[in-house]
Amino acid sequence: MAEQERRSFMIPFNFDYRRVHTIEEAVGLFRQFQLYSKKPLYFGGGTEIITLARLNQLYTEAVIDINGIPECNSFMIRDGKFYLGSCISLTQAVYQDSFLLLSQTANEIADHTARNKISLGGNICSNIRFKEAILPFLVTNSNVIIANEREIKQTSIKDAFDEEYQLPLGTLLVQLVVDEAYLHAPFYAKKIRTIGTVGYPVLTINAVKINGRLKIAVSGISLLPIQSEAIDDRLNNRQLSYTDRIKEVIEGWPKPIIDDIQGSADYKKFLLEKTLLEIFQKLEVD
Ligand SMILES: Cc1cc2nc3c(=O)[nH]c(=O)nc-3n(C[C@H](O)[C@H](O)[C@H](O)COP(=O)(O)OP(=O)(O)OC[C@H]3O[C@@H](n4cnc5c(N)ncnc54)[C@H](O)[C@@H]3O)c2cc1C
Repeated sequence: MAEQERRSFMIPFNFDYRRVHTIEEAVGLFRQFQLYSKKPLYFGGGTEIITLARLNQLYTEAVIDINGIPECNSFMIRDGKFYLGSCISLTQAVYQDSFLLLSQTANEIADHTARNKISLGGNICSNIRFKEAILPFLVTNSNVIIANEREIKQTSIKDAFDEEYQLPLGTLLVQLVVDEAYLHAPFYAKKIRTIGTVGYPVLTINAVKINGRLKIAVSGISLLPIQSEAIDDRLNNRQLSYTDRIKEVIEGWPKPIIDDIQGSADYKKFLLEKTLLEIFQKLEVD
């Protein structure tokens, strides 16, 4: 075996590994490691950290394993809200039957073996641009519970993350909180790949209809996931035909539709048109 190939199986640097059991311990330790310039990372499923570290595309001197924190493993409906801990695996997300939009979306991410490891929070906080598991939460205006050194707070998912869907450095994603009304709303979920049944999407789309309003969230066609009230307004302009609404949505798309290895921009526009029509047929036609 070539030396270089053998080396790619190993993480080429040493790092501290600490498993914590409370939120306070996690955020406190993060700060402490930061003070010592150890470039700490929270460790959920660890698949991305391990893969990128082996490839020398990620460097850290300390990981904080958050899987022992009870709040990060919760799964409960309370006072009309569904709480999902950030450490639940995508497999658990698939097999829960309260939030079927999440179940169907998670079922298309990676393969069964990888889903056993990948955490919901890890996918959402990932540096890999697709972040497909964020779509069901964006389209349902969900909240998140996040923690840092100063506070633990609940806020809307859009306010918690920056434009690139990253949390501020050191912030821990603890839980996702979905309003029960959305759990019963009619929905549509689809993932389209160039080839095969496993792999990154050309386009993944989630849609819901809530209080007569259609909402969509899309991954794959732009650099990062897209959910925008302006797009939803165009989608819901009932003075226009379905075809004209779709045209307006695509013309007003807030970020560039990109060419990449998954497909050309024109192909992605074509798929977006086609799936939006399917969404109208499924959720708008009475
Ligand atoms: C075989 C395979 C196939 C894949 N296919 C797809 C796919 O089809 N679609 C797709 O969208 N993705 C896909 N991915 C990407 C995968 O979903 C992400 O890499 C995800 O980050 C892995 O989750 P994890 O729990 O292992 O993350 P980790 O490796 O634990 O962490 C990833 C990043 O998130 C941070 N993080 C983790 N948890 C938290 C938290 N609670 N709070 C704050 N920060 C946190 C970590 O510090 C790190 O920066 C695939 C990955 C693999 C290995």
